[in-house]
Amino acid sequence: MHEVSVMSGIVESVLKELEKHQVIRVEEVQLTLGELTYLGEEQLQFAYEIITRDTSLEGSKLVIEPEETELQCVSCGYQGPADKLGAEYRMSMPSLVCPKCKGKVRVLKGQSCRVTSLKVVQE
Ligand SMILES: [Zn+2]
Repeated sequence: MHEVSVMSGIVESVLKELEKHQVIRVEEVQLTLGELTYLGEEQLQFAYEIITRDTSLEGSKLVIEPEETELQCVSCGYQGPADKLGAEYRMSMPSLVCPKCKGKVRVLKGQSCRVTSLKVVQE
């Protein structure tokens, strides 16, 4: 399960960050999850629960904020959301070509999975 290795990296960096502060307890960890990471929310929640066991993050809540894909076209300058492929199936995937001119694009958003905020109880 890919989610477990991603999540252990995230938890590790949060724990490292917490060491620098006088934190009594962490209530909530907010995670931004880009749709292009293809990571499953349920699997991430599950992995979080297991990985944080016996750490200072145990019992905290993981809040996942999905992030939609945003593209910028190299040829026509289009900037915005991607077209969805396979909307007729249960899983729809963003298409990585320009919705206007089918040109090459740069991905501005949707590729990362990162912690955006922590809700903590401080001393
Ligand atoms: Zn374009």
